[in-house]
Amino acid sequence: MKIIKIGGGCLKDGPTANIILDLAAARGKGNIFVVSAFFGITDILVSGIEAALASEDSIEGVIQDLRNRHQTIVDYLVDSVEEKDRALQKLEDLLGKLERYYFGISFTREATPRMRDMIAVSGERMSAMILAAAMASRGIDSGVVLPEEAGIITDGKFMDATALMAPTRENLSLRLGRQVTENKILFVPGFYGVSDTGEITTFGRGGSDYSAAVVTAGVDADLLEIWKDTPGFMTADPDNLPDCRLIPELTYEEAAELAYTGAGILHPRTVEPVRQAGIDIAVKNTYDPDARGSRITRRARQADTIIKSVSYTRDVAILKIHASGVGARQGILSLITRAVSDKGINIKSVVTSQTCISLLVSKNDAQTAHAGIREIHPRPFRESVCRTRVALVSIVGEGLHHSRGIAARCFTAVSNADVNIEMISFGASDAAMYFLVDEDSLDATIQALHDAFFNSSPPLL
Ligand code: ASP
Ligand code: MG
Repeated sequence: MKIIKIGGGCLKDGPTANIILDLAAARGKGNIFVVSAFFGITDILVSGIEAALASEDSIEGVIQDLRNRHQTIVDYLVDSVEEKDRALQKLEDLLGKLERYYFGISFTREATPRMRDMIAVSGERMSAMILAAAMASRGIDSGVVLPEEAGIITDGKFMDATALMAPTRENLSLRLGRQVTENKILFVPGFYGVSDTGEITTFGRGGSDYSAAVVTAGVDADLLEIWKDTPGFMTADPDNLPDCRLIPELTYEEAAELAYTGAGILHPRTVEPVRQAGIDIAVKNTYDPDARGSRITRRARQADTIIKSVSYTRDVAILKIHASGVGARQGILSLITRAVSDKGINIKSVVTSQTCISLLVSKNDAQTAHAGIREIHPRPFRESVCRTRVALVSIVGEGLHHSRGIAARCFTAVSNADVNIEMISFGASDAAMYFLVDEDSLDATIQALHDAFFNSSPPLL
């Protein structure tokens, strides 16, 4: 049995979803589908929360927008009159509940993390229900199993939960695995699980990939397939470098590193549950389902140049805290990191020297993090600087620290392109090396690295 994940990119509207349903009908029976919300729906649900906080007048418009979008999709996908009526009724039930949540927020002028999660999961509930109805309308045996029914148990952390695999595995094998039959298609809404007290908790934005991995490990499936509207993991971002190539095989470590900086192929935590269980992930292109795609597997072959991909993220800023004798001053690092965490900000990375502590944070968080640091009294540092016009570049390939000449090749290429490197981190992982460059030099950097590692070499495998 396989677990197949379909994301919002493949569920843009009726016609794109129809392509997926054809594919699922032809190749998906006997498997479990973990689905995201339809494209853009989670954004609407989340911005509806802010709008409801500002004024209750917004609520009707948000609900109507969601109703229109989903009704259009139901109309397109569900032919059988009976199934259509049933789906539209269920849609109204879900929208009715949602409307009450929004009014609750509006009256109390408060959106708790608990309420935010209850609202955010509506998109997945609607998409799973509609896709199951569309399948039934094609005469295919189908059903929806909600994460709370299947027993996906989390640590209870709202908006950033982690699945507890021991109870989840026990529950899923009993309540989900056994429902799978040869000709049936089961749909499970992605994105969330429930705490041991039954609270709905999401895995963070983009978390349906992680849900699918949890289900895969939970039912001990043979394979996790991620269906995308792209060919798979690439040697660079195709938007910048049209001549980049597909990476046919990656290790879990490489995939995790690429998910972190790369072009949004996978949610960064997706590999955790399947790596533990030793189950492969196959990334498949729905527009070319027989193509090879990318396979994430323990035994992935090494590339000739070790490096498999050059990736980057612009969503980074650096805070430099200049202080003397960093390594000799007890507590200074924790003082600074605590000031940032106390603002609710996630620190992506920390690099220190004897005279400077550098913190990497998301661009959106940079000013708040910097304010937090400047509020520390008495001031334990000489000067602090915040730079937002930077980008984080990474080269990824397992074994790079153990292979001679990789760093030299990388930095020679970058320096020949006249790019100044701001900070280097070899990181804890043996699969990636990171460095920061000025945002304006990003394109030149990526091109130079790609030329250095790929243009002179044969295809990856
Ligand atoms: N629908 C959720 C989001 O947009 C989860 C996901 O798509 O993976 O974040
Ligand atoms: Mg996604």
